[in-house]
Amino acid sequence: MKIFLDRLKATPEPYTFEAELTWWQETGATLGIGDQAVLDAFQLEMQAYTLGEDLFFDGEIRGALELECSRCLVEYREEIREPFRLLLEPAGDRLPAEPEAAAVLATEGMCLSDELGTGWYKGAEIKLNDFFRELLALALPATPLCREECLGLCPQCGVDRNSESCTCTKANPLSPFAVLESLRKEQN
Ligand SMILES: [Zn+2]
Ligand SMILES: [Zn+2]
Repeated sequence: MKIFLDRLKATPEPYTFEAELTWWQETGATLGIGDQAVLDAFQLEMQAYTLGEDLFFDGEIRGALELECSRCLVEYREEIREPFRLLLEPAGDRLPAEPEAAAVLATEGMCLSDELGTGWYKGAEIKLNDFFRELLALALPATPLCREECLGLCPQCGVDRNSESCTCTKANPLSPFAVLESLRKEQN
């Protein structure tokens, strides 16, 4: 995922990158994602152009991961799609205040500011590896769910309530159904 600055023009041009196996082994692990979790290889697609001295990237990342549902613990397919716009201005003689950002600027030729949408660049080429990691971190669901209405596991007996039913809730006297039932009995 590398861009040579002397090839960028004022008119937008398409770029496509694919996150390779080595990327997942080195960087994916920091997000808790191994390469074996990648179902569809991740693509970074964008238009790139210059605005005077500034660089502008506009595109999205796409791919699919196998994640574990936080409710029923089943592994499922999560489609990931994260659009982005990134404006980079020349770093010049400036150095990022954060040592981490300064290190990334030195190795990648670019670093992000506090906001994901802006940053600085330096040198003749830019690597998008770290930017890709930041985007992916944003795109990952905080609470992975196999589906919105997943019923999860029964907290008492542990059966998967999506495929089996159990009698635990009925036996629970505090359930709303039990309360209704007792009210009905009182009325009779
Ligand atoms: Zn689930
Ligand atoms: Zn149960």
